[in-house]
Amino acid sequence: MKNGVVIIGAGHAGVQAAASLRDEGYDGPVRLIGDEAELPYHKPPLSKTFIKDVDARPQILRADSFYSGAGVDLLLGERAIRLDPAAGRLELASGASLAYDKAILATGARPRVLAIEGGLLAGVLSLRSIADARAIRVLAATVEDVVILGGGFIGLEIAATLVASRRRVTVVEAQDRLLARVVAPAISAHVAGRLAASGVRVMTRTTVSRIEGDDGHVSAVITSAGERIAARMLIVGIGVVPNVELAADAGLAIANGIRVDGQLRSSAPNIFAIGDIASYRHWLTGGDVRLESVQNATDHAKLAARAIVGHGDSYAAVPWFWSDIGDMKLQMVGLTGGSDRQIVSGEPTDNRFSVFHYKGGRLIGVESVNRPADHMLGRRMLAAGFSPSPEVVAAGDGSLKAALAAWQAAQPHPDSGRDG
Ligand code: FAD
Ligand code: NAP
Repeated sequence: MKNGVVIIGAGHAGVQAAASLRDEGYDGPVRLIGDEAELPYHKPPLSKTFIKDVDARPQILRADSFYSGAGVDLLLGERAIRLDPAAGRLELASGASLAYDKAILATGARPRVLAIEGGLLAGVLSLRSIADARAIRVLAATVEDVVILGGGFIGLEIAATLVASRRRVTVVEAQDRLLARVVAPAISAHVAGRLAASGVRVMTRTTVSRIEGDDGHVSAVITSAGERIAARMLIVGIGVVPNVELAADAGLAIANGIRVDGQLRSSAPNIFAIGDIASYRHWLTGGDVRLESVQNATDHAKLAARAIVGHGDSYAAVPWFWSDIGDMKLQMVGLTGGSDRQIVSGEPTDNRFSVFHYKGGRLIGVESVNRPADHMLGRRMLAAGFSPSPEVVAAGDGSLKAALAAWQAAQPHPDSGRDG
């Protein structure tokens, strides 16, 4: 390996891949290319704390000294524009051309754009990068009325953050409930109720049809129901689009993301794709997924690094997610699509409860609100392949942990150490 590994995208996945290559003993050149100008940073705090505190600084993923210490050549403010899999070369917008033995694509995703009248007015913003977060923070400090389009994680985290800073916040969601794609109806209803109690106006089955401006700046939105809502800031959180153009132009197979195998190899054998851009058959469900989470990005990076140094193991991490929406810590484990039975444990009125999802009689996921112990137990159960009886879950008396321990003790070759 003379030309080494080039990693394209210096976000959660790319930075972890660089670190994991060294952890795995890879001693060739490692170059990490990022098109943002500053040291790679954590994204989750952007919607939770960064936008409300003018003094908050980015939380960097690794100290500057990590890159030099680990022999990782970090090229910031550099955009990769062309990948040539046959020649093993990558071109940058600055004109540089880099030869590689292996490439790891970790280009993430970008916010879906709202293509309606008024969508280009000043004050219509989305949140993905630290630059986006700064723009929201600056405007949020001066405006009263904020409309958030999209009741997904990003929209609701921002809504909770801004209402706590005494802004008038309206969330407009197209589906019939908040977080419809990601959590059980019981959790959607709980989140909607608590946000409403904190002062957020929540509108479902509604979208924004038109945006009105005043002097080039957003002044109001017109909903699909025809209501005019004053807004000096409109935050659009209606999902993301994976950044696959570099891969698509290079001829790599694309299917809702860059298609990869169980070792995260793309259709070009020397090119891996990890994180938000990777689309793959999930070992847990047999279905095709493209997951958007820090856990997915981090665990992909670790596996791609192992594959590059010659290990043969396949991706087998248990997927988990979290979100902080005001005083609700949501933690989700497993993939709950197709859930046909849901058992609630705990009391929503205490703002502490979990929903256990079953499909065909087997546990497929656990979603918790302020019940971290249930989440951790869920991770252990799914990793071990243990499915407790619904009766044990419904009892909600602590016997779940004992049931897992008893089941593990009875296994001839327990693999309970394989935690997500
Ligand atoms: P990214 O982190 O997006 O990194 C991709 C990088 O590649 C970016 O820096 C991009 O600019 C760069 N890039 C793209 N194209 C090129 C190119 N051609 N050349 C060079 N560089 C390029 N997940 C959770 O699990 N929990 C949370 O609480 C949570 N909160 C979030 C809050 C916010 C505000 C956001 C935006 C996301 C949040 N997420 C959360 C999602 C999580 O951050 C993503 O799933 C994760 O960042 C994906 O990592 P990635 O490396 O695949 O992509
Ligand atoms: P998201 O989870 O896809 O949610 C977007 C929501 O907006 C969906 O409910 C969507 O409904 C709805 N929507 C789409 N078009 C709409 C329209 N025109 N009008 C009204 N509603 C509309 O994405 P997101 O919340 O924008 O988050 C962006 C990214 O950040 C994702 O990768 C997410 O995982 C990540 N993120 C994660 C966390 C976390 O894990 N804690 C926190 C913040 C951000 P449909 O489903 O019908 O499209």
